[in-house]
Amino acid sequence: PGILYVVATPIGNLADMVPRAVTVLQKVSLIACEDTRHSARLLQQFSIDTPCVAYHDHSNEQRLEKILARLQEGDDVALISDAGTPLVSDPGFRLVRRAREDGVQVVPVPGACAFVAALSAAGLPSDRFIFEGFLPPKTGARQKHLQSLAAETRTLIFYEAPHRVLDCLQDMAAVWGAEREVVVARELSKTFETIYGAPLVDLIPWMEADSNQQRGEFVLLVKGAEAAESELDAKVTETMRVLLAELP
Ligand code: SAM
Repeated sequence: PGILYVVATPIGNLADMVPRAVTVLQKVSLIACEDTRHSARLLQQFSIDTPCVAYHDHSNEQRLEKILARLQEGDDVALISDAGTPLVSDPGFRLVRRAREDGVQVVPVPGACAFVAALSAAGLPSDRFIFEGFLPPKTGARQKHLQSLAAETRTLIFYEAPHRVLDCLQDMAAVWGAEREVVVARELSKTFETIYGAPLVDLIPWMEADSNQQRGEFVLLVKGAEAAESELDAKVTETMRVLLAELP
């Protein structure tokens, strides 16, 4: 069979296109795009005239089978999404899963990813973190989900749409308290890139005061909860138990 390349593309700044991505997209027989019209501009920019076909995880089975058949015939195929790394809050999971089941080699071509870029510049603990993708769009479900994350001590990372970002921050303050530190990473790699962090009590009025800060694309990064007292107590007790067992 051919190779399925999973190719990252820029998240705004076309200069972030990696040379290997250009080479691979030029040489494959077919590009599976999240949206062919959206990708046309990128492909044109880099003189890539490889045939494209639309693919997303809700595509019908036939579309999926067709791409898999091409791979079985020995054609190399590349998967791209509208921006960043495919499969990260983007289509591709079904295709990659099926390709691997079929014994097709799947090769990633690394590049931009919004949450990794945001984390690298946010100044929040980055040794451990959880990526939560998009929160539920409605307040009730969103607050419930936020509640389930209340004790999470790792840095939390979310994607959010511009028309929901303020509501989302308000729900975070309601559920986790207004002192929680949040970093907003907006329009990364683009002209109006802004990375701003503050406790929610200051962050929300800052964003409300300037409607420009509510436009564009957002990553929200949240400082994890302080380790709960009881959890610490449990650790101390456990340490004491181990130490006592060692005593003569
Ligand atoms: N696959 C992409 C990636 O690797 O990051 C993410 C695709 S997801 C459908 C789109 C979301 O990613 C946006 O709503 C926003 O939350 C985030 N995003 C994408 N580009 C961004 C940028 N330039 N600045 C900030 N956030 C961005």
